[in-house]
This record gives sequence, structure tokens and C-alpha cells, in this order.
Amino acid sequence: MEKIHAVYNSRFSNLHEIKISPLSRAYTFSDSVYEVIPFSNSEIIAFDKHILRLEKSCNALDLLLDFKKTTKEILELISISNLKNGYVYYQVSRGVDDIRSHIFSDNLSIETFGYVVEHVFKSQKLKVMLCKDLRWHRCDIKSTSLLGNILSMNNAKKKDCDEVIMHKDNILTEGGASNVFFTDSKTVFTPSLSKNILPGITREILINEIKDAGIEVVEDEFNINDLKKAESIWLTSSTKGLAQVSDIVDLEVDLKEDHPLYLRCNKIFKDKFLGSC
Ligand code: PMP
Repeated sequence: MEKIHAVYNSRFSNLHEIKISPLSRAYTFSDSVYEVIPFSNSEIIAFDKHILRLEKSCNALDLLLDFKKTTKEILELISISNLKNGYVYYQVSRGVDDIRSHIFSDNLSIETFGYVVEHVFKSQKLKVMLCKDLRWHRCDIKSTSLLGNILSMNNAKKKDCDEVIMHKDNILTEGGASNVFFTDSKTVFTPSLSKNILPGITREILINEIKDAGIEVVEDEFNINDLKKAESIWLTSSTKGLAQVSDIVDLEVDLKEDHPLYLRCNKIFKDKFLGSC
């Protein structure tokens, strides 16, 4: 098996050699948060924003993480991997219980775990399924508790789809592992942030860059009808970049592939963040 550089509770080793307790609260309760930090051409994309979001997730769970140590570990993983393009997965759990109990004891030590793998951004056209958002009311926390996303995305896979676009009572929220953007001929639209949406870093840096380039961006509440009228739709994430939606099953859409506005936004993003990747 190929070596994957990893770190568990600050000890570096091969991912496949790490042993964890089944009483880790990450395992029994998903009592844990995580980040996915991409790097391209040896440059980390929006590192500070990822660390800040991890801090917010930890604060939401009252996890007292040593951010200096975490930052050093993430940098060290990238450095020892010798990779130019990839991402670090980093997870923070409340710790390991003596026995499974919903209510955690006061003396738990935080448990951290990370690894680095190669990943190259590729141009993708995604087939997407529209579905009800089954999730809880704090999707703004980047928790490892992703059962709603997982059930929906795997149902979508049965229909030969790569992703989902979710809605709560007809109001669009986000993708299963991405944020949603759509356009008419000249304006870019995306659901505004709320407790039902993860504040995606790709979403944030894309909005900043395209606004700077003079493109109008509207963040608001949108519904399925708005999506029907879209000329182009794309999904954003730290591993996808901007991925075009080619079709939505069970929804009548008339999407123009390689829409000029998509191409312009994608070029702005690639030029700024992906270097020559
Ligand atoms: N929403 C969800 C539910 C996600 O899982 C992700 C990717 N982790 C995103 C949005 C996009 O966030 P980011 O751009 O920070 O990767």
C-alpha cells in the first residue's frame, strides 16, 4: 500500500499504521469537526481562512484546540509529502471516552488527526440530483456528522449522478459537498449564508475575486424555480474548484455548457489560485 503521510495526536506516521480507539467520540458520536485544506503549485489556498473556519467550528463545540500546533502540523504534512498539488484533511475530535456516554467527561484530551494526499483540480461536468435537505439546523459548522449528505449523495449515485443540490421547503441550500452558484446572462447568484449552509472557502474567495473583476454577484434566498431559469450552474469546493453542472435529473433546465460567464469566473479563479496547475 502506498505511504500516506499522516499525523495522529501530533505523532507523524504512515496513515495505515495509525490505530485509534473505538471509544473516540469521533467514532461513536461524530463529536468532531474537520477541514480540507487544498494546495496547488506548492501554494496553500486561503490557509488563514481555513484555520479561521476550523476555529469557528471548534468554538461551536467548545473544543480548545492548540491552533499554533495544528498550523505547524498541517505545514509539516505538506512539506514531508513533497507534493505540489494536493490537500490536507485535518480532524479534531473531543477525545476518547472511558465508556460510550452522550455526556462527555470534563477531563477529555482533544484528539487530532490529519493526512495529506495528492489531488489535481480537473475540469468536470457534473450530473446532479435535486433533493430535500435532510440535515440538522447547524450546517454552518464543519462537523464530521454528514449522514444527511451521505444518504442523499449515494441515492443520487443510483441515478448516475455525481452530486446533489439540496433544498429546504423549496429554498435552495447547497450541494452535498459543495456550494451552489447559478447565472443568467450577466449576473452570478448564490444562496446567502445561513445556519443551513457551510460557509465554503471557495465560495468566499470566488465571490471576492469576481466582484473585484466587476462581475455582479447577488447573495439571496433562491428557490427551485430560480434554478430552472438558470443559464449555467456550477458547484464550488476546495477539491472541485468550480465544477459545471451539465444536467439536473428530475428538473427541467436549459443549461448552456461552457457559458461565457462560467468560463470567465473559472478563469479568474484558476489564474488567481491554481497557478499553472
Ligand atoms: N458545503 C458542504 C456541505 C461541503 O461539504 C463543502 C466542502 N467541504 C462545501 C460546501 C465547500 O466548502 P469549501 O469551499 O470550503 O471546500
